[in-house]
Amino acid sequence: MCGHATRALDDEASRRCDACGHQVWPRVSPAMMVLVRRGRELLLARSPHFRPGVYSALAGFVEPGESLEACAHRETLEEVGVRIANLRWFGSQSWAFPHSLMLAFEADYVSGDIVPEAGEIEDAGWFTPERLPDLPSPGSIAYRLIRAALAR
Ligand SMILES: [Zn+2]
Repeated sequence: MCGHATRALDDEASRRCDACGHQVWPRVSPAMMVLVRRGRELLLARSPHFRPGVYSALAGFVEPGESLEACAHRETLEEVGVRIANLRWFGSQSWAFPHSLMLAFEADYVSGDIVPEAGEIEDAGWFTPERLPDLPSPGSIAYRLIRAALAR
């Protein structure tokens, strides 16, 4: 942090200052995704910035000092007013824009009626496999998460 120019290292994704040894890595921001199940039904929601007709699992950025698990419970309660249990790890996907790492879970519904959070969730509901809305693009972890749940 002495103000000299840094240079990119060849053997890892970082930059280093040769004057003081300070080294920096690209920032990665963890984001959590959770697909809530209630029997055969899936809780899917629309963010105002989704393409028309598309619904997905709930998601949000992890706050400083918060565990992924706490984030899943908090976001679900905030975004749709629902309580969950039995978080199960699904998988992750690096998302270069802006610089997030999406960490995806499945969970079971416990209680609460869906109340979409104003400004964040345009609409949300319970969907059966027979009556699904449009889903996120097939390359996304959201799509794989939903498809995997439908396959069980
Ligand atoms: Zn320096």
